[in-house]
Amino acid sequence: MTDDLDAATPSSRLLRPLGREVGTRTAGALAQLGVQTVGDLLRYYPRRYSSPGKMTDLRELRVGEHVTVMAQVRQATVRKMHTRGGAVMEVIVTDGVRDLSLTFFAKHEGRLRGHESKLRPGRVGLFTGNVGRYRGTAQLVHPDYTIVGVDADDEAAALVEASRPIPIYPASAAIPSWRIAPAVRTVLDPLKREEVPDPIPEGIRTRHDLLDLFTALRDVHAPYQDADWKRAQDRLRYEEAFVLQAALARRRAEVAEQDAVARPGAGQGDGGLLPAFDARLPFVLTKGQRDVGQQIAADLARPRPMQRLLQGEVGSGKTVVALRAMLQVVDSGGQAALLAPTEVLAAQHLRTLRQLLGPLAEDGMLGGADRATRVVLLTGSQTAAARKEALLDAASGRAGIVVGTHALLGEQVQFADLGLVVVDEQHRFGVEQRDELRTRAGVTPHLLVMTATPIPRTVAMTVFGDLEICTLTEIPEGRAGVATHVVPADNQAWVARTWSRVREEVDAGHRVYVVCPRISPDDPEGAQAADDADLVAEPGTAGDGGGDLLFDEVPVRRPLRAVLEVAEELSAMPVLAGVRIGVLHGRLPAAEKDDAMARFAGGDLQVLVSTTVIEVGVDVPEATVMVVMDADRFGLSQLHQLRGRVGRGSAPGVCLLMSAAPEGTDAAMRVHTLAETSDGFRIAAVDLELRREGDVLGASQSGTGSSLRLLRVVKDAELIAQARSDAAEVVDADPTLARHPALATAIDLWLGPQREEFLERA
Ligand code: ADP
Ligand code: MG
Repeated sequence: MTDDLDAATPSSRLLRPLGREVGTRTAGALAQLGVQTVGDLLRYYPRRYSSPGKMTDLRELRVGEHVTVMAQVRQATVRKMHTRGGAVMEVIVTDGVRDLSLTFFAKHEGRLRGHESKLRPGRVGLFTGNVGRYRGTAQLVHPDYTIVGVDADDEAAALVEASRPIPIYPASAAIPSWRIAPAVRTVLDPLKREEVPDPIPEGIRTRHDLLDLFTALRDVHAPYQDADWKRAQDRLRYEEAFVLQAALARRRAEVAEQDAVARPGAGQGDGGLLPAFDARLPFVLTKGQRDVGQQIAADLARPRPMQRLLQGEVGSGKTVVALRAMLQVVDSGGQAALLAPTEVLAAQHLRTLRQLLGPLAEDGMLGGADRATRVVLLTGSQTAAARKEALLDAASGRAGIVVGTHALLGEQVQFADLGLVVVDEQHRFGVEQRDELRTRAGVTPHLLVMTATPIPRTVAMTVFGDLEICTLTEIPEGRAGVATHVVPADNQAWVARTWSRVREEVDAGHRVYVVCPRISPDDPEGAQAADDADLVAEPGTAGDGGGDLLFDEVPVRRPLRAVLEVAEELSAMPVLAGVRIGVLHGRLPAAEKDDAMARFAGGDLQVLVSTTVIEVGVDVPEATVMVVMDADRFGLSQLHQLRGRVGRGSAPGVCLLMSAAPEGTDAAMRVHTLAETSDGFRIAAVDLELRREGDVLGASQSGTGSSLRLLRVVKDAELIAQARSDAAEVVDADPTLARHPALATAIDLWLGPQREEFLERA
């Protein structure tokens, strides 16, 4: 026995591997669920609780799904199979309305006796298995089952057991829920309070009337009544928020300790680039741009690393804000890197910056200003010569601004003195990447992350809890805006009108985007992922994981429109005769992508049929129309982003959303919402309501391996805000958490191993 030893380290019991506790077979099956240790198993909470006597609605069963249902035995019959030999037992169970058939096969009738004695009509049980279909009814073949009140050791215990809520665990084919339940009890029952240190300080527990961890674990797994598991969940949910916020608060404290080089910009009358740039700006900055600019300028002037997130409505002019920050750093003798999510966007940024800067970006060139800098591009697909020169410019410090993709960070690019990193259109620039930046650069550079996808406050607090957030809501004046209409895809007249409108715009000298969810009609659906489209699955389609619907109609599936196919169709349309049409998608070589984009920007191409590669940031002021095919298949925020590509100049924009979604569906609701509002923050809110939680934080957050089991970032907004201020209080008073070892351990243990997956999401 090693118990004496274990007592010395209170949490060591939680770290024990499960093999010796629950047997190797069960431990092996649990490992498939990511459950390895006693602690993991205790944190593997029931998904829901079945009250005794409450039947599962059998209508909800779907073919192919692994289910656990509570139902009552209606009849059980055993018969010989004449053709095949052997015997079969068929048991009909019911929820009171619908039936489910359970089938057991055996070599001899005698082998079925055990089932016969348990599966008596009138008895209620939990049955688990994969749903099949046989003669029109749902069927489980050889289900595992447990009969309420019968499978307990004695009658008295059975009575108590039968009245308790039954925990239903997220199960798999490898291990059904009620194999998990006894395993949990095996580790839970002998557990002692002192073996479970509580990461939430007692004062905070008392303040919010929260259960201690020991009690919460007991009650979440083995409640006597519903109120027990509810209180337990409340406490465990708060704990998730609290530990996470404490982790973030500790990070903020760490960053606040770090050194950075102050970049106050050029002194008065020093002839800096920033004042020169401001003097040649062709427009007046919006109030938002000025305010945010001042905050950033002040951050940069401090010897602590700036960690700032700039949220801005589409078209609010973030690039200029970023450029002004970069110039302040260059004026202070440093360099800046601007990172874009795609090469298309990086190339565009290079053009934009050079154009905005004019002679100020022409260091060493004829006609360059006296005090100019150099803006260079660094991407993976450059020619070796161009790349070498850019690398040299970065390393020598000659390039004040280096533009590249996010990959730039991972590469061995040397900077003479990197003072600022601007990350564009990437709200998923997570903690790990920020860490990398810090360790790579010697002295931590200032960081500005920009996103046009508005992030609800609590999501921002959760994912970017260590960043300062500022917001640009204003759109510069003089924009004509975008009118948005939904075009029913089966209305021939409207569709025809769409294409003749495209013709009119082209004739007026404007340009048109046509966006499709897929590249080629030959691609399997889902291949869009190649272009990072954030498509929404229809119920009943493969992406939904639901399998065939058993009792409802299976929706008719139409193939999604594809870039190559649509481009061909448009070229053949008489109404578009002579129009120069190009294509752009993620599978084109980088040079061809650049070329297509440049030709479209320059007017050589008039219509660009594209995937969502144009989603973020692309800025072609002459583009006035965007047609989105299968618009209902895109996420709302994504449609808003797409739409932001038109109406950027002085001519009004039009966004035509083609959709075949039937009225009343979520899909139709999405496109109509977009047609009704142009407020990105409102759209983000509706988007969140319509989406599942997993989509909000990314898939890794919703799985069982995630650290967020009970916490719902959108729904639990208040709780998160509360936990944030509680955590700040604790960390402020004890920045290293020396006096809160259980909390420190919880952060390391709980967040640590999965941190990359957890905070990364990229
Ligand atoms: P986003 O915030 O979506 O990245 P951009 O930075 O691409 O927006 O800006 C969109 C367009 O607005 C650009 O053509 C830019 O030059 C222009 N712009 C930026 N600020 C102003 C302003 N204050 N007044 C007028 N136009 C502006
Ligand atoms: Mg932008």
